[in-house]
Amino acid sequence: MSKKSDKSEDKQDTMEKIVSLAKRRGFIFQSSEIYGGINSCYDYGPLGIELKNNLKKAWWKEMVQLRDDVAGLDSSILMHPKIWEASGHLEGFTDPLVDCKKCKKRFRADHLLESKGIKPDFRQADFKKHKIKCPECDGELTEIRDFNLMFKTFMGALENKASEIYLRPETAQGIYVNFENVRMSANKKMPFGIAQIGKAFRNEITPGNFTFRTREFEQMEMQYFVHPAEAEKWFEYWQQQRFEWYQKMGLNKAKLKLRRHKNNELAHYAKAAVDIEYDFPFADKELEGIHNRGDFDLKRHEEFSGHDLKILDEDSKEKYLPYIIETSGGIDRSVLAFIVDAYTEMEARSGDKDAKHETETVLKLHKDLAPIKIAILPLSKKEKLEELSMSVYGQLKENYMCAYDTTQTIGKRYRRQDEIGTPYCVTIDFDSLEDKKVTVRDRDSMKQDRVNIKELRDYFREKFGY
Ligand code: ATP
Repeated sequence: MSKKSDKSEDKQDTMEKIVSLAKRRGFIFQSSEIYGGINSCYDYGPLGIELKNNLKKAWWKEMVQLRDDVAGLDSSILMHPKIWEASGHLEGFTDPLVDCKKCKKRFRADHLLESKGIKPDFRQADFKKHKIKCPECDGELTEIRDFNLMFKTFMGALENKASEIYLRPETAQGIYVNFENVRMSANKKMPFGIAQIGKAFRNEITPGNFTFRTREFEQMEMQYFVHPAEAEKWFEYWQQQRFEWYQKMGLNKAKLKLRRHKNNELAHYAKAAVDIEYDFPFADKELEGIHNRGDFDLKRHEEFSGHDLKILDEDSKEKYLPYIIETSGGIDRSVLAFIVDAYTEMEARSGDKDAKHETETVLKLHKDLAPIKIAILPLSKKEKLEELSMSVYGQLKENYMCAYDTTQTIGKRYRRQDEIGTPYCVTIDFDSLEDKKVTVRDRDSMKQDRVNIKELRDYFREKFGY
């Protein structure tokens, strides 16, 4: 029986267990740990990188491979500094910041207001009116200051104003400035999209909640260029597509919602915006934003670069600047959501004869996302059995990420695989030497199939679809 807990008092506990499992099993480590760690930076371990890569592959397949109207791109992180003037980031990519005069802690003013149930459409005066104090020590807070979130560095040998350059705070701008290059080289007709996965950097004032808000993270973004008259239609279309994708990849529908931004919440570039939110143990939080950006971006890049980015409609001979519908998601946030959603505590399963624990953890990840697809578990370390097991392992790892484990009892090995979400375990026993068959155990149904070694490839092709 599943005991997946929803009680709010258990939520913190659940998060702690997930962070601990992530470290113990090699999904996610604190960065620079042996030096005491560095705040808000994380490293993905051997299983974490598999999960992350699988998520990227699934997104790329859905957004690029299966579509004729989207092409891929990998643009550079360092770009011409004028791009950030044109995009509005130099001027407007700021968070409102306050410091506590007593304990010196730093907070985001909008978050403090939100925590008091006050809408974040505030100004200095509202902040004073509500008499907001330091949530840590009740001390007095400074005035609100705007803090630019872009990381600045210098390009070349000189450190002066002329050599200032920024780490990109989003991957989107790399797409906009390549709009013409991609359209011409890939011969795309309107409407079409450009997809990109890559790192982005934001000097967040209050990072936190594990990998949810970090200063270095990866985005998966697709910018769809449309005729202005069709923008509303495509905005609706992409909301549905993206909302359904998270469900298709296994997220619990009851924990997902689409939240439309009110007009006073809209970013400077957006005509309309919707967030896909997931009910994390710490709050309902954004996984992805879908925005109707109008012609803001291309217009600004035309203005700042002096380049004509308009399209000629061959039928009507009309020249127009496309509107952009953006789908902008976070890889790290999604990885965290998929782990949280898959995390299940169950009564120890009777199928594992030597189970001594009352509960066990099963990571019910979608098969496409699971870091290890198949574990090969010989029942004993006897030479003949290992020989046969190694040949099964050698055969399967050509097509699937596999693990080979001979340590400890079979029950413990099953539990270890369940905990990391391995969908199938293949056990090789002494009968296998005679009948050339192995036992395949299914993580979720616990059903066991006896399969001829020669037929294993077909068996798994049917299970995984490849
Ligand atoms: P938030 O309101 O949480 O700061 P945002 O609205 O600024 O997010 P966008 O600029 O729309 O986010 O970025 C698109 C996506 O990139 C987000 O939905 C999120 O998944 C991811 N993302 C943004 N900032 C971070 C961050 N600091 N750490 C991890 N992922 C992030």
